[in-house]
Amino acid sequence: MAKGGPRNPMPKLPPEVRIRSFDEVALGFSEEQAIDEAERCLDCKNKPCVSGCPVNIDIPGFIKLIREGDPVAAARVIKRTNALPAICGRVCPQKEQCEKVCVLSKKGEAVAIGALERFAADREAELGSSGEQFRPENPELSKYSVAVVGSGPAGLTAASDLARMGYSVTIFEALHKTGGVLRYGIPEFRLPRHILDREVEYVRSLGVKILTDVVIGKAVGVKDLLREGFEAVFIGTGAGTPKFLGIPGENLSGIYSGNEWLTRINLMRAHESDYATPIKVPKRACVIGAGNTAMDCARTALRLGAREVTIVYRRGRAEMPARAEEIENAEEEGVKFQLLTNPKRFLGDQRGAVRAIECLKMELGEPDESGRRRPIPVPGSEFQIECDIVIVALGQNPNPLIRMTTPELKTEPWGGIIIDPRTGMTSIPGVFAGGDVVTGEATVIAAMGAGKVAAAGINNFIREKHNLDR
Ligand SMILES: Cc1cc2nc3c(=O)[nH]c(=O)nc-3n(C[C@H](O)[C@H](O)[C@H](O)COP(=O)(O)OP(=O)(O)OC[C@H]3O[C@@H](n4cnc5c(N)ncnc54)[C@H](O)[C@@H]3O)c2cc1C
Ligand code: SF4
Repeated sequence: MAKGGPRNPMPKLPPEVRIRSFDEVALGFSEEQAIDEAERCLDCKNKPCVSGCPVNIDIPGFIKLIREGDPVAAARVIKRTNALPAICGRVCPQKEQCEKVCVLSKKGEAVAIGALERFAADREAELGSSGEQFRPENPELSKYSVAVVGSGPAGLTAASDLARMGYSVTIFEALHKTGGVLRYGIPEFRLPRHILDREVEYVRSLGVKILTDVVIGKAVGVKDLLREGFEAVFIGTGAGTPKFLGIPGENLSGIYSGNEWLTRINLMRAHESDYATPIKVPKRACVIGAGNTAMDCARTALRLGAREVTIVYRRGRAEMPARAEEIENAEEEGVKFQLLTNPKRFLGDQRGAVRAIECLKMELGEPDESGRRRPIPVPGSEFQIECDIVIVALGQNPNPLIRMTTPELKTEPWGGIIIDPRTGMTSIPGVFAGGDVVTGEATVIAAMGAGKVAAAGINNFIREKHNLDR
C-alpha cells in the first residue's frame, strides 16, 4: 500500500453470527493487513497523533516497528507509556483522539492507530514474552509503599507507573475481580476477558500486589491506610452510582439501570445456565441514552434473545456520545434508533411490570454548556413505545462511600473528588485521586492519563517528604 492510501477495514464477524454469542466482534488485523496499514503512516516530524493521545504513546515509533515486521518491539514501545495496550486498542475512542488529529484524516481516512495498537499487543502475547526483564527504575524506592484504591484503568495505570519507578504498590479492590468497568461494564464481545486478564497479569508482573474483596471506606478508611504506613493513597474508585430520569413509573419491575443490567451479565453471568443470577429475558427492550453504556446494553439485550431493541435518545445522531464504531456495530446488528425522543413516564401492567414508555418528541435548539444542541420538547407530541424491559443508561456518578467516610475530602456538589489537576492531589496531603471519581463517567484513556498524572504527583510528594533526589 502506498503511503497515505485507503485505510484497511477492521475484519468483523458477520452481524447474524455475532448476535448469537458473546464472541468478540472485531477480529483484528492479520500480519499482512497490519504491515499494509502501517505503511500508510507518513511518519510525520511534528507527530500530531502523539499529542492527541492522553498518554502520549510514541505512535509513529511503534507503527514503524510494525512496518519493519517487529510487533514485539512495537508493543514494548507502547508499554513504555501504556500498560494496557490490548484494551486501549479495542475500546479507546481513537476517532476523537489520536486518529482525529492524524494528518491523513484531513484529506481522507486516518491511519487505523487503534487497530495497530491492538495488533502489536496481541502479537506480543502470541509470540510469548517480549524477553524484556522488568527492572524498576530505582529499587531503593521499594521501602516506600503506596495504596491504590480501585483496580479500574486509573488504578491499574497509577499502580504500574509507581511500580516501574520502584515503589511497593498494593491495589485494594472492592469486587471479587479486577478491572472495574473493563470487567463489569464493557461486554466480552468488545473486550474478551482473557485480554483483560492478560493485561492485569502484566501489571502484577511489575510487582503490584492486588487484594480483591476489600472495600475501602468501611472497616478501613482512606486515612487508616496512611496511618498504617502507606506514604500515599490513590483513589481510583470510578463512578458506579447510576443516574435515573426521575420520572413517574421508574420503580416498575423490568426497569434496570445500565450498570445493573451489564453487571448481572458481565460479572454475574446471568446469561450462562450454570449461574443462578436472575435476569428478565426481554422480547422488546428499550434502552434510554446513546453513550457507550447504552450501546452495550442494547447489544447485550439482543444477544440474550430480544426480538426488538430500541435506543431512545433525546438528541440527534450527531450528538450521540458513544464510539462511532459501536454505533455502527449496533446498527448492523439490528438495534433501532428512536432519536429526538425523551421519555415522559413509564406505564405498567396490573402486575407492576413495565409495558410501555410514554415519550415526547424533541427538536434541537442552541448548543448548551456541553456544546451539544439543546433538546426542546415538542408540545402535544406524546406517543408510546411498547416494551417489556427498559434499561436506563444515562451515565454514573461516583459512589458516595469514601466521600461520606472521609469528611476532610473536598468534593463537588455532584460527588466528584476535587484535585489539583497538575498533581492529582486532593484536599488531604498524601491522598490523590483520578479517573471517573474526579471527572464523572469519561473514558478509559482519560482515566489512565489521570492515573499517570497522580503517579508523578505521588512520586514528587514522597521524594519531597523524604528529601530524596529527583
Ligand atoms: C458500559 C460501559 C461502557 C464503556 N465503554 C467505554 C469505551 O468503549 N471506551 C472508553 O474509553 N470508555 C468506556 N467507558 C468508560 C470507562 O470504562 C470509564 O471511564 C473508566 O473505566 C473509568 O476508569 P476508573 O479507573 O476511573 O474507574 P472504574 O473502571 O469504575 O474502576 C473503579 C474500581 O474501583 C472499585 N471501587 C469502587 N469503590 C471502591 C472502594 N470503596 N474500595 C475499593 N475499591 C473500590 C470498583 O469496584 C472498580 O473496580 C464505558 C463505561 C461503561 C459503564
Ligand atoms: S499523524 Fe498519522 S500519518 Fe502522521 S505520524 Fe501520526 S499516525 Fe502517522
